[in-house]
Amino acid sequence: MTAPALEVRELKKHFPVQKGLLKRTVAHVKAVDGVSFAIRPGETLCLVGESGCGKSTVAKMALRLIEPSGGAILLDGKDVTGLEAKAMRPYRRRIQMVFQDPYASLNPRMTAGRIVGEPLENFEDYSTKVREERVARLFEKVGLRPDAMRRYAFEFSGGQRQRLGIARALALEPAVIVADEPVSALDVSVQAQVLNLLMDLQEEFGLSYLFVSHDLGVVEHIGHTIAVMYLGKIVEIAPKETIFADPQHPYTKALISAAPLPDPRAKRERIVIQGDVPSPMNPPPGCAFHTRCPFAVDRCKVETPALLTKPDGRQVACHLVA
Ligand code: SF4
Repeated sequence: MTAPALEVRELKKHFPVQKGLLKRTVAHVKAVDGVSFAIRPGETLCLVGESGCGKSTVAKMALRLIEPSGGAILLDGKDVTGLEAKAMRPYRRRIQMVFQDPYASLNPRMTAGRIVGEPLENFEDYSTKVREERVARLFEKVGLRPDAMRRYAFEFSGGQRQRLGIARALALEPAVIVADEPVSALDVSVQAQVLNLLMDLQEEFGLSYLFVSHDLGVVEHIGHTIAVMYLGKIVEIAPKETIFADPQHPYTKALISAAPLPDPRAKRERIVIQGDVPSPMNPPPGCAFHTRCPFAVDRCKVETPALLTKPDGRQVACHLVA
Protein backbone atom coordinates (compact mmCIF):
# COMPACT_ATOMS: atom_id res chain seq x y z
CA MET A 1 0.00 0.00 0.00
CA THR A 2 1.33 3.47 -0.84
CA ALA A 3 2.22 5.72 2.08
CA PRO A 4 -0.06 8.67 2.77
CA ALA A 5 1.09 11.81 0.96
CA LEU A 6 0.77 13.67 4.27
CA GLU A 7 0.27 12.25 7.72
CA VAL A 8 0.30 13.89 11.12
CA ARG A 9 0.46 11.88 14.32
CA GLU A 10 -0.52 13.23 17.73
CA LEU A 11 0.42 16.73 16.59
CA LYS A 12 0.52 19.32 19.37
CA LYS A 13 1.14 23.05 19.62
CA HIS A 14 1.20 24.44 23.14
CA PHE A 15 2.03 28.15 23.27
CA PRO A 16 3.58 29.30 26.55
CA VAL A 17 1.82 32.13 28.41
CA GLN A 18 4.48 34.32 30.01
CA LYS A 19 4.09 36.89 32.75
CA GLY A 20 6.12 39.41 34.68
CA LEU A 21 9.49 41.02 34.11
CA LEU A 22 11.24 37.66 34.02
CA LYS A 23 8.72 36.33 31.52
CA ARG A 24 8.02 33.25 33.59
CA THR A 25 5.84 30.66 31.86
CA VAL A 26 2.67 30.49 33.94
CA ALA A 27 0.49 28.39 31.66
CA HIS A 28 0.18 26.95 28.16
CA VAL A 29 -2.43 27.56 25.49
CA LYS A 30 -3.14 24.20 23.91
CA ALA A 31 -3.91 25.50 20.41
CA VAL A 32 -3.56 21.98 18.97
CA ASP A 33 -3.63 19.01 21.29
CA GLY A 34 -3.04 15.60 19.76
CA VAL A 35 -4.33 15.75 16.18
CA SER A 36 -3.82 12.74 13.88
CA PHE A 37 -4.88 12.13 10.29
CA ALA A 38 -3.54 10.81 7.00
CA ILE A 39 -4.21 12.03 3.45
CA ARG A 40 -3.75 9.54 0.62
CA PRO A 41 -2.44 10.62 -2.80
CA GLY A 42 -5.18 12.32 -4.81
CA GLU A 43 -7.45 12.94 -1.81
CA THR A 44 -8.68 15.98 0.08
CA LEU A 45 -8.98 16.17 3.83
CA CYS A 46 -10.92 19.17 5.09
CA LEU A 47 -10.36 20.58 8.56
CA VAL A 48 -13.47 22.42 9.71
CA GLY A 49 -14.53 24.28 12.84
CA GLU A 50 -15.12 27.77 14.18
CA SER A 51 -12.27 30.26 14.20
CA GLY A 52 -9.87 29.62 17.07
CA CYS A 53 -10.29 25.83 16.98
CA GLY A 54 -6.68 25.26 15.86
CA LYS A 55 -7.19 24.30 12.22
CA SER A 56 -4.88 26.98 10.77
CA THR A 57 -2.22 26.09 13.35
CA VAL A 58 -2.35 22.47 12.13
CA ALA A 59 -1.91 23.73 8.55
CA LYS A 60 1.09 25.88 9.50
CA MET A 61 2.71 22.97 11.33
CA ALA A 62 2.17 20.65 8.35
CA LEU A 63 4.08 23.22 6.26
CA ARG A 64 6.73 23.51 8.98
CA LEU A 65 6.03 27.27 9.17
CA ILE A 66 5.71 26.78 12.92
CA GLU A 67 7.29 23.98 14.89
CA PRO A 68 5.08 21.52 16.76
CA SER A 69 5.42 21.07 20.51
CA GLY A 70 4.94 17.34 20.04
CA GLY A 71 3.92 14.66 17.57
CA ALA A 72 5.15 13.92 14.06
CA ILE A 73 4.69 15.11 10.46
CA LEU A 74 5.30 12.58 7.67
CA LEU A 75 5.58 13.35 3.97
CA ASP A 76 5.41 10.31 1.66
CA GLY A 77 5.96 8.18 4.77
CA LYS A 78 9.14 10.01 5.81
CA ASP A 79 9.21 11.72 9.20
CA VAL A 80 10.19 15.35 8.51
CA THR A 81 9.52 16.66 12.02
CA GLY A 82 12.42 18.73 13.22
CA LEU A 83 14.49 18.41 10.02
CA GLU A 84 16.97 21.27 9.62
CA ALA A 85 16.37 23.70 6.73
CA LYS A 86 18.93 22.00 4.47
CA ALA A 87 17.61 18.49 5.10
CA MET A 88 14.06 19.79 4.70
CA ARG A 89 14.75 21.37 1.29
CA PRO A 90 13.89 18.33 -0.88
CA TYR A 91 10.64 17.92 1.07
CA ARG A 92 9.84 21.64 1.06
CA ARG A 93 8.97 21.44 -2.65
CA ARG A 94 6.67 18.45 -2.05
CA ILE A 95 4.27 20.53 0.05
CA GLN A 96 3.12 23.98 -1.02
CA MET A 97 0.54 26.50 0.13
CA VAL A 98 -2.35 28.50 -1.26
CA PHE A 99 -3.10 31.47 0.96
CA GLN A 100 -6.43 32.81 2.12
CA ASP A 101 -6.12 36.34 0.88
CA PRO A 102 -5.12 36.64 -2.78
CA TYR A 103 -4.94 40.43 -2.31
CA ALA A 104 -2.31 40.34 0.43
CA SER A 105 -0.27 37.29 -0.56
CA LEU A 106 1.07 38.51 -3.93
CA ASN A 107 3.90 41.04 -4.11
CA PRO A 108 2.48 44.19 -5.80
CA ARG A 109 5.91 45.19 -7.14
CA MET A 110 6.44 41.96 -9.08
CA THR A 111 4.92 41.01 -12.42
CA ALA A 112 2.54 38.06 -12.36
CA GLY A 113 5.06 35.98 -14.31
CA ARG A 114 7.78 36.70 -11.77
CA ILE A 115 5.45 35.84 -8.86
CA VAL A 116 4.54 32.47 -10.36
CA GLY A 117 8.13 31.75 -11.44
CA GLU A 118 9.78 32.73 -8.14
CA PRO A 119 9.79 29.17 -6.68
CA LEU A 120 11.50 27.99 -9.89
CA GLU A 121 14.17 30.69 -9.43
CA ASN A 122 14.74 29.48 -5.86
CA PHE A 123 14.71 25.73 -6.46
CA GLU A 124 15.65 25.09 -10.09
CA ASP A 125 18.57 26.02 -12.29
CA TYR A 126 16.58 26.80 -15.42
CA SER A 127 17.59 29.35 -18.04
CA THR A 128 15.31 32.40 -18.25
CA LYS A 129 13.77 31.04 -21.46
CA VAL A 130 12.94 27.61 -19.99
CA ARG A 131 11.58 29.23 -16.83
CA GLU A 132 9.35 31.55 -18.86
CA GLU A 133 8.05 28.61 -20.89
CA ARG A 134 7.20 26.73 -17.71
CA VAL A 135 5.48 29.77 -16.24
CA ALA A 136 3.45 30.20 -19.44
CA ARG A 137 2.29 26.57 -19.13
CA LEU A 138 1.35 27.15 -15.48
CA PHE A 139 -0.74 30.18 -16.52
CA GLU A 140 -2.60 28.00 -19.00
CA LYS A 141 -3.13 25.24 -16.42
CA VAL A 142 -4.95 27.65 -14.10
CA GLY A 143 -7.03 29.24 -16.87
CA LEU A 144 -5.03 32.46 -17.37
CA ARG A 145 -3.67 33.69 -20.70
CA PRO A 146 0.15 33.47 -20.83
CA ASP A 147 0.36 37.04 -22.17
CA ALA A 148 -0.89 38.19 -18.73
CA MET A 149 2.58 37.33 -17.37
CA ARG A 150 3.76 40.92 -17.87
CA ARG A 151 0.92 42.44 -15.83
CA TYR A 152 1.05 43.26 -12.12
CA ALA A 153 -1.04 41.51 -9.45
CA PHE A 154 -3.25 44.59 -8.84
CA GLU A 155 -4.41 44.42 -12.47
CA PHE A 156 -6.12 41.06 -11.82
CA SER A 157 -9.52 40.37 -10.24
CA GLY A 158 -9.75 38.49 -6.92
CA GLY A 159 -10.46 35.17 -8.61
CA GLN A 160 -7.61 35.67 -11.09
CA ARG A 161 -5.24 36.50 -8.24
CA GLN A 162 -6.16 33.27 -6.51
CA ARG A 163 -5.44 31.47 -9.81
CA LEU A 164 -1.99 33.11 -9.73
CA GLY A 165 -1.53 31.84 -6.15
CA ILE A 166 -2.47 28.33 -7.29
CA ALA A 167 -0.10 28.50 -10.30
CA ARG A 168 2.71 29.54 -7.96
CA ALA A 169 1.91 26.66 -5.60
CA LEU A 170 2.01 24.25 -8.57
CA ALA A 171 5.34 25.50 -9.93
CA LEU A 172 7.48 22.92 -8.12
CA GLU A 173 5.11 20.03 -8.92
CA PRO A 174 4.20 19.33 -5.28
CA ALA A 175 2.42 16.23 -4.00
CA VAL A 176 0.48 18.12 -1.32
CA ILE A 177 -1.13 21.55 -1.28
CA VAL A 178 -2.21 23.12 1.98
CA ALA A 179 -5.02 25.58 1.32
CA ASP A 180 -6.11 27.74 4.26
CA GLU A 181 -9.55 29.25 3.54
CA PRO A 182 -8.53 29.72 -0.13
CA VAL A 183 -11.94 30.91 -1.33
CA SER A 184 -13.35 32.70 1.70
CA ALA A 185 -12.21 36.15 0.44
CA LEU A 186 -13.87 35.62 -2.96
CA ASP A 187 -17.39 36.33 -4.24
CA VAL A 188 -19.65 33.29 -4.08
CA SER A 189 -19.86 33.08 -7.87
CA VAL A 190 -16.06 33.02 -8.15
CA GLN A 191 -15.66 30.54 -5.27
CA ALA A 192 -17.16 27.69 -7.31
CA GLN A 193 -14.84 28.40 -10.25
CA VAL A 194 -11.74 28.27 -8.05
CA LEU A 195 -12.95 25.11 -6.26
CA ASN A 196 -13.62 23.43 -9.61
CA LEU A 197 -10.14 24.44 -10.80
CA LEU A 198 -8.59 22.88 -7.67
CA MET A 199 -10.57 19.67 -8.27
CA ASP A 200 -9.54 19.53 -11.96
CA LEU A 201 -5.87 20.01 -11.01
CA GLN A 202 -6.19 17.31 -8.37
CA GLU A 203 -7.46 14.87 -10.95
CA GLU A 204 -4.79 15.78 -13.49
CA PHE A 205 -1.80 15.73 -11.13
CA GLY A 206 -2.97 13.37 -8.35
CA LEU A 207 -2.57 16.17 -5.80
CA SER A 208 -3.48 15.77 -2.14
CA TYR A 209 -5.10 18.72 -0.40
CA LEU A 210 -5.22 19.69 3.24
CA PHE A 211 -8.09 22.13 2.99
CA VAL A 212 -8.92 24.41 5.92
CA SER A 213 -12.35 26.00 5.95
CA HIS A 214 -15.11 27.20 8.25
CA ASP A 215 -17.63 26.86 5.38
CA LEU A 216 -19.48 23.53 5.33
CA GLY A 217 -20.85 24.25 1.84
CA VAL A 218 -17.31 24.57 0.49
CA VAL A 219 -16.01 21.40 2.17
CA GLU A 220 -19.03 19.42 0.97
CA HIS A 221 -18.03 20.43 -2.57
CA ILE A 222 -14.34 19.58 -2.40
CA GLY A 223 -13.68 17.16 0.50
CA HIS A 224 -13.21 13.40 0.58
CA THR A 225 -12.67 13.20 4.34
CA ILE A 226 -13.92 15.73 6.88
CA ALA A 227 -12.23 16.29 10.23
CA VAL A 228 -14.18 18.49 12.64
CA MET A 229 -12.06 20.34 15.20
CA TYR A 230 -13.07 21.89 18.50
CA LEU A 231 -10.62 23.59 20.89
CA GLY A 232 -7.51 22.00 19.45
CA LYS A 233 -8.81 18.45 19.01
CA ILE A 234 -10.55 16.45 16.33
CA VAL A 235 -14.00 15.51 17.65
CA GLU A 236 -15.20 13.61 14.57
CA ILE A 237 -13.51 12.39 11.39
CA ALA A 238 -15.19 10.44 8.61
CA PRO A 239 -15.70 10.28 4.84
CA LYS A 240 -17.69 13.24 3.56
CA GLU A 241 -20.78 11.21 2.61
CA THR A 242 -20.93 9.63 6.09
CA ILE A 243 -20.55 12.89 7.94
CA PHE A 244 -23.09 14.86 5.92
CA ALA A 245 -25.69 12.05 5.82
CA ASP A 246 -25.38 11.09 9.48
CA PRO A 247 -23.29 13.37 11.71
CA GLN A 248 -22.78 11.85 15.17
CA HIS A 249 -20.91 14.33 17.36
CA PRO A 250 -23.24 17.07 18.68
CA TYR A 251 -20.83 19.76 17.44
CA THR A 252 -20.75 18.25 13.93
CA LYS A 253 -24.55 18.02 14.01
CA ALA A 254 -24.81 21.69 14.94
CA LEU A 255 -22.37 22.82 12.23
CA ILE A 256 -24.13 20.80 9.53
CA SER A 257 -27.59 21.84 10.67
CA ALA A 258 -26.54 25.49 10.23
CA ALA A 259 -25.12 25.00 6.71
CA PRO A 260 -27.34 26.12 3.81
CA LEU A 261 -28.91 23.32 1.76
CA PRO A 262 -28.46 23.29 -2.04
CA ASP A 263 -32.28 23.25 -2.39
CA PRO A 264 -33.57 26.35 -0.53
CA ARG A 265 -37.03 24.72 -0.13
CA ALA A 266 -35.55 21.75 1.76
CA LYS A 267 -35.56 21.88 5.55
CA ARG A 268 -33.49 20.18 8.22
CA GLU A 269 -33.66 20.22 11.98
CA ARG A 270 -31.55 23.06 13.35
CA ILE A 271 -29.37 22.35 16.37
CA VAL A 272 -28.36 25.64 17.94
CA ILE A 273 -25.26 25.89 20.09
CA GLN A 274 -25.09 28.73 22.57
CA GLY A 275 -22.21 31.11 23.20
CA ASP A 276 -18.71 31.35 21.82
CA VAL A 277 -15.82 28.92 21.75
CA PRO A 278 -14.22 29.03 25.25
CA SER A 279 -10.68 30.38 25.54
CA PRO A 280 -8.08 27.69 24.80
CA MET A 281 -6.14 29.22 27.72
CA ASN A 282 -8.79 27.98 30.08
CA PRO A 283 -10.65 25.13 28.40
CA PRO A 284 -13.58 23.53 30.25
CA PRO A 285 -12.76 20.28 32.11
CA GLY A 286 -14.13 16.96 30.91
CA CYS A 287 -15.51 17.26 27.38
CA ALA A 288 -14.40 20.70 26.19
CA PHE A 289 -17.72 21.07 24.38
CA HIS A 290 -19.90 20.46 27.47
CA THR A 291 -20.48 24.17 28.16
CA ARG A 292 -22.30 24.49 24.81
CA CYS A 293 -23.58 20.98 24.17
CA PRO A 294 -27.39 20.62 24.25
CA PHE A 295 -27.01 16.90 25.14
CA ALA A 296 -24.41 17.17 27.94
CA VAL A 297 -24.81 14.89 30.98
CA ASP A 298 -22.97 15.00 34.32
CA ARG A 299 -20.22 12.65 33.11
CA CYS A 300 -19.31 15.14 30.37
CA LYS A 301 -18.22 17.72 32.96
CA VAL A 302 -15.53 15.49 34.46
CA GLU A 303 -14.48 12.87 31.93
CA THR A 304 -12.78 13.72 28.62
CA PRO A 305 -14.16 11.51 25.83
CA ALA A 306 -11.52 9.70 23.76
CA LEU A 307 -11.63 9.78 19.96
CA LEU A 308 -12.82 6.21 19.33
CA THR A 309 -13.34 4.25 16.12
CA LYS A 310 -17.01 3.29 15.69
CA PRO A 311 -18.43 0.21 13.91
CA ASP A 312 -18.85 2.14 10.63
CA GLY A 313 -15.16 3.18 10.69
CA ARG A 314 -15.62 6.82 11.64
CA GLN A 315 -13.97 8.26 14.73
CA VAL A 316 -15.96 10.27 17.29
CA ALA A 317 -15.13 11.76 20.69
CA CYS A 318 -18.43 11.78 22.59
CA HIS A 319 -19.66 9.74 25.60
CA LEU A 320 -23.10 9.40 24.05
CA VAL A 321 -22.05 7.94 20.70
CA ALA A 322 -21.93 4.13 20.81
FE1 SF4 B 1 -21.87 16.67 24.44
FE2 SF4 B 1 -21.11 15.07 26.41
FE3 SF4 B 1 -20.81 14.26 23.92
FE4 SF4 B 1 -19.27 16.20 24.92
S1 SF4 B 1 -19.31 14.07 25.55
S2 SF4 B 1 -20.26 16.21 22.95
S3 SF4 B 1 -20.72 17.27 26.23
S4 SF4 B 1 -22.74 14.67 24.96
